[in-house]
Amino acid sequence: MPHHLTLLPGDGIGPEVTEAAVQTIEAAGVDVVWDRHRVIGATAVERGRPALPPDVIDSIQERGVALKGPVTTPVGQGFTSVNVQLRQRLDLYANVRPATSLEGVDTPFEDVDLIIFRENTEGLYSGIEYFDERLEIADSIARVTKRGAERIIRFCFEYAKANGRGHVTLAHKANILKKTSGLFLDIGREVAAEYPEIEFDDRIIDNLCMQLVVNPDDYDCIVSTNLFGDILSDLTAGLVGGLGVTPGANIRDDMAVFEAVHGSAPDIAGQNVANPTAMIRTAVMMLRHIDEDDAATAIERALFDMYREGDVLTQDVGGTATTSEFADALADRVGAEKDA
Ligand code: NAD
Repeated sequence: MPHHLTLLPGDGIGPEVTEAAVQTIEAAGVDVVWDRHRVIGATAVERGRPALPPDVIDSIQERGVALKGPVTTPVGQGFTSVNVQLRQRLDLYANVRPATSLEGVDTPFEDVDLIIFRENTEGLYSGIEYFDERLEIADSIARVTKRGAERIIRFCFEYAKANGRGHVTLAHKANILKKTSGLFLDIGREVAAEYPEIEFDDRIIDNLCMQLVVNPDDYDCIVSTNLFGDILSDLTAGLVGGLGVTPGANIRDDMAVFEAVHGSAPDIAGQNVANPTAMIRTAVMMLRHIDEDDAATAIERALFDMYREGDVLTQDVGGTATTSEFADALADRVGAEKDA
C-alpha cells in the first residue's frame, strides 16, 4: 500500500533540496503518492491567493504527514510567516530539532548529540503585535500558557524516556521575564518530578548559549519556548556543520510536518549548490514516523558512508559537488544497497 503524503517544496532552495529528498526516498523503494503544493507564500500572494492556501491545510489534515521545504518570509512587513501560520493552524506544538555530529564534517567537537525541543505555537511568535502610531510604541506579546508549556515539556520528557536519553535541560530567562519564562520554569519543575529517572536542570538562556559552544557534551535534550528554541537550534546546527546538515520536525500526536531547520537561503537559491543533507535527514525522520524503518536506516547508512569517504560533498561542508551530484550519488548507493 502506498503512503499518501503531502509535499510542499517551498521556495528559494526548497524545490532543489526537497527534490533530492524525494529522489532518495524513491531510491529506497518506499512507495509514496505525493500530493504536491507549489503555490504557497509569495508565489500564492502574487496570484491573489492567501500565503497559506486552504487546500494546503486540507491536504495535510487529510494525509496527516507532510514533507516541507522552507518558505521565505518578508522581513518587517508583508504577510505573516507561512511556517508560523502552518504550525499554529495545525497546532503542531512540538518542534524537534536534533543536532548530531557527522563523521567527515570538520567541526570543533566530535560527538555532539543534542536535541532541541522548541515550543512551536506561542511565546513571542504568538502573533499578538501592536504598533501605536500616535505614541510610536511597538509591542510583541510573548504569550505562554500553562497548557502550552506543559505539553511541550511533557513531550520532551516522553521522547527522552522512549529514546533512552537521560537528561533534560530547560532554557529560560526567568530572572527577567518573571511571568512568561517563570511560568515555563515552574511547569518544567512540576513535570520533571514525574520523571525521577531523568536528570533535570535549567539554565538561563544567555549562559546556556555560552555553555553550549564550550561544553556541548554536558547537554542532551533541551526544551524551551518558541524564540529561544529557534535561536538555540541554529546555534546547535553550527556545532555540527551548519544548517545544511540539520533536520527537524513539527509534531502533534496525530499529525506531523517534517522540515529542516534552515530557511530558503536566497543567497544560494537556484544555483544547485545547496546541501540537501538536512532535508534528506528530515526525510529519514519522516520515514521512521511512518514506520519505514528499514528504508530510513538504509538512507542514513549510505549518507554516513558518503560523509566518511568525503568524495562527493557540497561546498558548505568542504566539498565541490552540486546539489544534484550529491543527490544522484546518494540515490545510486541507496538503490544499489536495496538491490544487493
Ligand atoms: P537561511 O537558513 O535561509 O540561511 C542562513 C545561511 O545558511 C545562508 O548563508 C544560507 O546560504 C545557508 N544555508 C541554509 N541552508 C543551507 C543549505 N541547505 N545548504 C547550504 N547552505 C545553507 O536563513 P535566513 O537567510 O535567515 O532566512 C532566509 C529566509 O528563509 C527568510 O525569509 C526566513 O524567514 C526564511 N526561513 C524559513 C524557514 C522555514 O521555512 N522553516 C526557516 C528559517 C528561515
